[in-house]
Amino acid sequence: MKPVGFIGLGAMGKPMAKNLVKAGYSLVVYDVNPSPVEELVSLGAVKADCSREVAEACETLVTMMPNSPHVEAVLMDPDGVLAGLASGGIIIDMSTIAPNAAKNFAGKAAAQGVTILDAPVTGGVVGAVSGTLTIMVGGPKEALDRVMPLLEAMGKTIVHVGPSGAGQTVKMANQIMVGISYAAVAEAWTIGVKAGADPTLMYEVLSKGAARCFAIERVPDTVLPGSFEPGFMIDLQHKDLCIAMETSKELNIPLNLTSIALQYYEAARCLGFGRKDHSAVIKVLEHITNVDTRAKTS
Ligand code: NAD
Repeated sequence: MKPVGFIGLGAMGKPMAKNLVKAGYSLVVYDVNPSPVEELVSLGAVKADCSREVAEACETLVTMMPNSPHVEAVLMDPDGVLAGLASGGIIIDMSTIAPNAAKNFAGKAAAQGVTILDAPVTGGVVGAVSGTLTIMVGGPKEALDRVMPLLEAMGKTIVHVGPSGAGQTVKMANQIMVGISYAAVAEAWTIGVKAGADPTLMYEVLSKGAARCFAIERVPDTVLPGSFEPGFMIDLQHKDLCIAMETSKELNIPLNLTSIALQYYEAARCLGFGRKDHSAVIKVLEHITNVDTRAKTS
């Protein structure tokens, strides 16, 4: 069996690639950053010097890039995947990018007999390490059936959600919910504490009632101790809400709450919190109001 390619060994891609090695796959890997490549090579993977070299060695490969322009470069550059992958090959793009970009890339690849599945993930670095990601897949079902064992080595819930771009569409909806939830926690905790509520007792109540959500579940690990190491970075949340806003313009769908939440993430980046966890969006309101939402020690 030919090896599987993996391009993009960052916070998510590296543990996902390691899970493929653990599951017995032979990997050919590439990243512009040599350090994670070396780590994978020490586990038995073979290093390639560009994306085209990965593609020449494989029939199936995974890409895990920050955003659409990176995916475009990896696929379309003269030394990119499409210059090396033979007809019949499958690219599984697990990055979170704009739905329209995903459709566009899939169309260009189809013209040379290559299938791209858009397969973004949710579950964060923890899910990437434990192999329990939720993966939403857009593209031809037959291609998904062929690569299902590969996805099962990285994720627990794998759902075919429709044609090309549908995976990114569902991921965009996920990120709207997540981005607004963290902004809502920021507002609720800031006004609650300013009005005299205890931040820990607020958590005990809000996490058990109708308001409960993932952003609230994480309050004891983030807001209360003031621990904002990522996790999922403000910069990525900002990127994902920008994708939602661009798509809203294309489709003439107003996204009022998303546009307001985006301003909080914009402000967080302004304050230098771009590389902090997205729960750090609360620091924007703390900065403006001088309210401290950390757990009281007494
Ligand atoms: P990251 O920045 O840590 O990793 C991206 C990797 O791509 C880096 O190692 C970088 O060197 C590499 N890269 C960039 N351009 C390249 C190129 N031209 N050729 C080869 N390699 C290149 O990002 P991440 O946190 O791993 O996220 C990847 C994607 O997954 C993003 O779209 C993100 O939105 C999504 N995602 C992230 C998380 C998370 O918790 N971090 C959770 C779910 C989804």
